[in-house]
Amino acid sequence: MKIQAAVTRQKHAPMSIETLTLEAPRDDEILVKLVATGICHTDIAMRDQAFPVPQPIVLGHEGAGIVERVGKAVRKVAPGDHVLMTFNSCGHCPSCDHGAPTYCHDFFGRNFAGGRSDGTSALAKDGHSIHGNFFGQSSFATHALCREANVVKVRADVALESLAPLACGVQTGAGAIINVLKPGPGASLAVFGTGSVGLSAIMAARLIGVSTIIGIDRNESRLALARELGATHTINAAEDVGAKIAETTGWGVDFSFDTTGNAKVIRLAVDCLAPRGSCGIVGASDAGTEITLDALHIMTGGRTLRGIVEGESHFDVFVPALIDLFVQGRFPLDRLVTYYPFERINDAIADSETGAVVKPVLRFG
Ligand SMILES: [Zn+2]
Ligand SMILES: [Zn+2]
Repeated sequence: MKIQAAVTRQKHAPMSIETLTLEAPRDDEILVKLVATGICHTDIAMRDQAFPVPQPIVLGHEGAGIVERVGKAVRKVAPGDHVLMTFNSCGHCPSCDHGAPTYCHDFFGRNFAGGRSDGTSALAKDGHSIHGNFFGQSSFATHALCREANVVKVRADVALESLAPLACGVQTGAGAIINVLKPGPGASLAVFGTGSVGLSAIMAARLIGVSTIIGIDRNESRLALARELGATHTINAAEDVGAKIAETTGWGVDFSFDTTGNAKVIRLAVDCLAPRGSCGIVGASDAGTEITLDALHIMTGGRTLRGIVEGESHFDVFVPALIDLFVQGRFPLDRLVTYYPFERINDAIADSETGAVVKPVLRFG
């Protein structure tokens, strides 16, 4: 079938909206008509080759839409179902076997290789293959193929466009706090970077009763939003952040959470931990980025540094739970979103990069 897609042909350059062909779904594939898709920082990082994803490629990995057709082996969803497309996994490696698909041994291959696991791509232009299957979807397009492994059925009484960011950024931030770091009442948490992932972490921390929630960013308007969404304190990154945290908490924070992927910020996030503190990192650092740490600080305080992918989300359970909380008004993820028509994808990316908007969501049709 013919589709419209935003094609990334070179790094640091605008994407171009082009007419492509998309293959019919294979037996295990699901054809989704997109209603909306979020733009995640990882899309921008991959456009700019933070990892060597092949180009030309259709990026996009926060797709929200309606199932149009399913292959004959598909049981999980049916035509007409409202769905989100999330991260992909293989289903049969040691991590997947242990119910930890965010640490799939083939995570890179299944999400960043630019094609299906057999090396083919469902996308083409004038007979030339275009890379696709980014995060098992390539959602910067009017239609996308996904599989049972990365589709979540969601309730149909909530506008899909408001749910798109749950597919990656929001579950990454909320999941890191609720599923992994698990701070509780009495605990303190510092969130470095108050973009959509950091703000989702702050909303989650408020939801579960964390006593002291410190948001850190350079952008004053984002810090103001952080305070509205649950931060009890904010610090401008231009200040002496370590000193400010010590002043606020006495001993440092029990938990810190880095969303920036910047080695210096990660060092700061570890240095500000109180004894027995844990730091979680989720930022898309450039491949090969090294972090320097003070070994004695880590060892003597029993501190830990922990990588976290996609909030360790069991998305078939976690995403619908967050949607229910959103509907109840207790997890106001719509506060993060600015909508753009699909055709304005490059403006949306530019506004995200300048910090003018927190979470751009593209609407189709
Ligand atoms: Zn796996
Ligand atoms: Zn993402």
